[in-house]
Amino acid sequence: MVDSKKLQEKAREILERDDVRRLLGWKRPTYGFEAAPAVIKDASGVDDLLFDATCVNNLASFITLEEKPPVPRGEEPDTRKTAIMAKGCDSRAIVQQLAEKAYGRDDVIVLGIPCSGVIDRRKAGEMFGDVSAPVAAECEGDKLILEVDGEKKEVDRKELMMDKCLRCRYPNPVISDELLADEVEKFADDDFSDVARFEKQSQEDKWAFFDEQFSKCVRCYSCRNVCPMCYCVECIVTNLKPQWTRRSTDISENTAYHLQRAWHLTGRCIECMECERVCPVDIPLMTLNRRMTRDIKEMFDYEPGVDPEAEPLLASYNPQDPEEYIM
Ligand code: SF4
Ligand code: SF4
Ligand code: SF4
Repeated sequence: MVDSKKLQEKAREILERDDVRRLLGWKRPTYGFEAAPAVIKDASGVDDLLFDATCVNNLASFITLEEKPPVPRGEEPDTRKTAIMAKGCDSRAIVQQLAEKAYGRDDVIVLGIPCSGVIDRRKAGEMFGDVSAPVAAECEGDKLILEVDGEKKEVDRKELMMDKCLRCRYPNPVISDELLADEVEKFADDDFSDVARFEKQSQEDKWAFFDEQFSKCVRCYSCRNVCPMCYCVECIVTNLKPQWTRRSTDISENTAYHLQRAWHLTGRCIECMECERVCPVDIPLMTLNRRMTRDIKEMFDYEPGVDPEAEPLLASYNPQDPEEYIM
């Protein structure tokens, strides 16, 4: 468990340094089951910082966001360090961004958080309905202790945690400059049984499933915008010249979007599940991501986001690579 006082003192110490420009963390929202991301630029803001099982967002997406306002003429861009609080899955995104040279190791200070899981707001909503105040949630052994609209609730962790947490292989950060709590035990092993279950279906049933799901897509691009690995300055799906994918939301264009995205994330997706979490029409996007992850692990013995020195999968070649799929 992260001690809030220790966290806030560490954040203050970091923000008082001359070489740090901002700290990415979480604070209580105005209401709801998920903490709000916080970009803190001044040590006076650290008292808002917290970590508990409501801290769901993968903050690594913010590192690569460009500052929106143009740098005023005559001024230099602020290239000082970004400090970031990172759970296990968030730290994998940082490692993969580093492997892709999105920025340098000296550009970030990683405050690592051993993590016992975060709650799924959809599951929590089904259990508790709408809430009008911010929810607090702590893991204690196999239990989650929540404060919902002023009332204490105790539930089995498995009932409320996000699916990714139930199979998390890296609850402890794979990279950090300082750990904010003691390391935790893995909750369960990941045997990719979800992928195997899906694969058992016939080809026709799988097509029918994706047809149904992709037909719902409204192409809001929230899945792309929230993804820590979707940080290209220009994106193939929004380019107009040339226009690779039309904007109409018919099944053909939607399928093209999702297949392009899945390929672009092969060997890069670190399974943070943010894309699926934010989808407004509940498309189970992890179905594709998990299949790709399982395949590259089996075929190339490669796992993204665990080794910052590793060559990115699609930028490296090994003569022993399997090649049955090459026509
Ligand atoms: S996937 Fe692992 S590191 Fe990420 S929130 Fe769940 S338990 Fe924590
Ligand atoms: S978030 Fe959902 S609806 Fe929006 S583009 Fe992605 S899949 Fe489609
Ligand atoms: S595709 Fe989804 S699960 Fe994979 S890194 Fe992006 S947001 Fe996370």
